[in-house]
Amino acid sequence: MNILFTASECVPFVKTGGLADVVGSLAPVLAKLGHDVRVMLPMYTSIPQQWQQQMQFVLNFDVQLGWRRQYCGVLSLKKDGVTYYFLDNKYYFGRPYIYGLGGDEYERYGFFCRAVLNALPLLEFKPDVIHAHDWQSGMVPALLRIQYMHLPFYAGIKSVFTIHNLQYQGIFGIKEVQDVLGLGDGLWSSDKLECYGCANFMKAGLVYCDAISTVSPSYAEEITTAYYGERLDGLIRTRKDALYGVLNGIDTEEYDPEHDKLIFEPYSLKTLEGKAENKRRLQAELGLTVDEGIPLIGMVGRLTNQKGLDLVDSVLGDLMNERVQLAVLGMGDARYTNLFSWAEGQYRGRFAARFAMDATLAHKVYAGADFFLMPSLFEPCGLSQLIAMRYGTLPIVRETGGLRDTVLSYNEYNGEGNGFTFLNYNARDMFTVIKRALYFYENDKAVLASLQKRGMQGDYSWTHSARDYVAIYEKLTAKA
Ligand code: ADP
Repeated sequence: MNILFTASECVPFVKTGGLADVVGSLAPVLAKLGHDVRVMLPMYTSIPQQWQQQMQFVLNFDVQLGWRRQYCGVLSLKKDGVTYYFLDNKYYFGRPYIYGLGGDEYERYGFFCRAVLNALPLLEFKPDVIHAHDWQSGMVPALLRIQYMHLPFYAGIKSVFTIHNLQYQGIFGIKEVQDVLGLGDGLWSSDKLECYGCANFMKAGLVYCDAISTVSPSYAEEITTAYYGERLDGLIRTRKDALYGVLNGIDTEEYDPEHDKLIFEPYSLKTLEGKAENKRRLQAELGLTVDEGIPLIGMVGRLTNQKGLDLVDSVLGDLMNERVQLAVLGMGDARYTNLFSWAEGQYRGRFAARFAMDATLAHKVYAGADFFLMPSLFEPCGLSQLIAMRYGTLPIVRETGGLRDTVLSYNEYNGEGNGFTFLNYNARDMFTVIKRALYFYENDKAVLASLQKRGMQGDYSWTHSARDYVAIYEKLTAKA
């Protein structure tokens, strides 16, 4: 099959969160299964030079965006069996940020979506399926269906739209989006593009794609409810027959404690002393008291309300009364960076926070911590808990979305489980579970060792889920 991915981020070129990991690790697995997989991304100038140097210029064309005529260059490189195309326009993507600051996101990603479709005949690549990821690519299925499908080249192309996070929808003024994409007045009713008086790229993708997927079975259920549906649950319910939940995998080569060059010392289940060494050196690097006997809880992730940081805020004082250390790595909202900066000063040697996008330090935290805390308010899939388990770090998570699908709480009666979980979004419930984990740390390490072993032996690869995606593609194309 010819498969085209369109996304706004992809490792190793550009990453702000899990979307990049998923696109960058799923594409090569699909290619390995024998498909012709190509990925289209914006050509951000922040893509590291190492990759830019390997890109070849392929062709260029102009994109008509309302009254604007904009240049689009196509650069390409091949990696792990996948062809990556980078759509180049310095005005839109030659900026020192990936998202947000310019106030013209609808124009940047409107340009991107249109350029994706316009590039295909020029590249002489006709996909069987276009797999669009998140709101930045949401207009691809919509434009395909509304404006391109009747052209012979595009006839029969199917589209899959994957929700990596329903919270980010790309909501803009209708007039602005019309001005860029030329979508006529007749399209702005609530069964089509209009969404609570606005244009909404995510909704556009959801309405016009042939199949919707999201990144875990539980999240697929949850987003049909008002609590998790982010005001799109009604629409999603109407499309339930076309909705799939496919659990994310991780790149098991990048995240492999036995061969990881970013951590202090590689280790495996057989050489767990190596993990203790990672802990000591992480403590030293972060200015924590170096003591292997003090349980160390790690957190890595975007510092936003999604990640359940309000719960941490609520019980931070009580938590720090326990014999415990906390290491936080993340970037995000000022209310959390302020809180964690304060905590670092308040609990010297016991609380460390770093606010940067730092892959090396992230690996060191996954490797060096005893526990990994992820009390998310909602979590489409979550990769961090999978990475943590692979590194023998026990997850403490809230039972929501993908966390619920991947972490099974320790059961004292039958010994099952691979971590610790709580259900309600409640700080006391979280604290009780953290104390339960700390209890075993102090009193029954054998229990933790058994959970750790199960975690490290878990299969977090794409093998299974990649086949699930292929099954969706096959179902769509068979219907044609
Ligand atoms: P989300 O997609 O909601 O951001 P995920 O758990 O799905 O959360 O994926 C987050 C990914 O980004 C993980 O690979 C995590 O290690 C990484 N990550 C998040 N914040 C940072 C950071 N500050 N430095 C390095 N890696 C980070």
